[in-house]
Amino acid sequence: LDYGASVEDAAAVRDWLAQHQKFGHFIGGSFTQPGRGFATSDPATGEVLAHVSQGGDEDVGKAVKAARKAQPAWAALSGHDRARYLYAIARTIQKRERFLAVLETLDNGKPIRETRDIDVPLVVRHFYHHAGWAELAETEFPGLRPLGVCGQIIPWNFPLLMLAWKVAPALAAGNTVVLKPAEYTPLTALAFAEICQHVGLPAGVVNIVTGDGETGAALVRAKTDKIAFTGSTEVGRAIAHALAGSGRKLTLELGGKSPFVVMEDADLDAAVEGVVDSIWFNQGEVCCAGSRILVAESVSARFEALLRARMEKLRVGAPLDKSTDVGAIVHPVQKERILKICRDAVAAGAELVGGAPLAGCFVAPGYLRGIAPANPGMSEEIFGPIATLSTFRTPDEAADLANNTRYGLAASIWSESATVATDMAARIKAGVVWINAANLFDAAAPFGGVKDSGYGREGGRAGMRDYLTGPEVKAQAESKPAPIS
Ligand code: NAD
Repeated sequence: LDYGASVEDAAAVRDWLAQHQKFGHFIGGSFTQPGRGFATSDPATGEVLAHVSQGGDEDVGKAVKAARKAQPAWAALSGHDRARYLYAIARTIQKRERFLAVLETLDNGKPIRETRDIDVPLVVRHFYHHAGWAELAETEFPGLRPLGVCGQIIPWNFPLLMLAWKVAPALAAGNTVVLKPAEYTPLTALAFAEICQHVGLPAGVVNIVTGDGETGAALVRAKTDKIAFTGSTEVGRAIAHALAGSGRKLTLELGGKSPFVVMEDADLDAAVEGVVDSIWFNQGEVCCAGSRILVAESVSARFEALLRARMEKLRVGAPLDKSTDVGAIVHPVQKERILKICRDAVAAGAELVGGAPLAGCFVAPGYLRGIAPANPGMSEEIFGPIATLSTFRTPDEAADLANNTRYGLAASIWSESATVATDMAARIKAGVVWINAANLFDAAAPFGGVKDSGYGREGGRAGMRDYLTGPEVKAQAESKPAPIS
């Protein structure tokens, strides 16, 4: 095992956990007394890391009240002053990046290489980027104003990154927030609360209430001006029903079953690396994972041989080991969910290559081959390191198969021809299409779905717009210089 520098970072995290042990909520700038709650554990070892409190209507009500009280003064700050807080948050996260990477890896089970090199740097970038938007909001969105208080509910697969995607634009636009992290992974959100204290963020601008789905439901019931939700399509639909007719804004980032299309002329080695980044990254617990691999029949035998050889080289194991490629599944319940869908897919006629359950909370990477379009493995989001592999004969068939899903979050297309790739991209109904790439994220690029993958965008201009309200003023069009005659 090669733990490298993370031994020292892990010691710092252990000290921090030992100091806290039990966490209250973060409301109005300070932590409440810990109340009745539950343990959060390291899925790789089963070790209890800390206890967190289960928020109810009363806690959520206090948090919303604190956010409501803080909002007018926060919105009245100049964009420049709000930006200074966001820059300070970004810098502090950067200074604590090793600590946060280890804490995230312990709580979630994902490999340290990913938290250190992907999750935390993207979090930092998100706060820096939105500090820029805070400065520009007034001139870029004339006539628009913040929504007020935003309730934000996030999942466990990218805990701190999902927090950043929600909190940074909301604050940049002049809103205050009440955020509920997922019950499996609350710890980096609580470490973030300390960062808010450290930079002197005014009390009540960020509030964090921990708990499970009941706490989320309490936040949906509370009197906020917007709910921003990332999670499953089923819960997203329930929230949409609860908010219908309320006049409150809602954005939903939901599930996916994204196609990964390998055209006949693709660079197959590159496409295989793309699969690694797409479905075997983060144990496949990625909403936009390229979980349905569709490959041109003429190259499918060669592609599958390369894919299988590469898959067998992936190292599954201790998340804190720097050489681990695939870490622990977040929770035994999720592991069982993955295995059940695989069993159902095999019962319906598919063949599972790899994908074995391993001791503890681990599942080996795998893929389902010989799988019919009607097989449940083709339609259900597995949310684990298991893809499906099927073939197509013509681009028309590829597009039909790619769109044969209730989801529309992302797609990835592999071809050496720009024309072939962009033609296919235009035919796939998805919020994000990558060409010769997968799972690339940038704070400046809007992310979000169509169909059952939700609505609203996070990131860039479109993401900022979803945290503002009021009539659009076509400022840019009006200020265009007159053409020179
Ligand atoms: P989930 O829907 O069960 O939980 C997500 C969050 O909602 C958690 O914080 C949970 O406590 C809360 N919640 C649960 N029931 C609730 C209710 N009735 N009312 C309000 N809140 C409630 O999903 P999950 O299992 O945590 O995450 C996996 C799902 O999230 C997958 O479907 C995945 O595709 C999706 N996801 C989507 C994106 C995206 O950007 N589109 C990103 C990550 C995950």
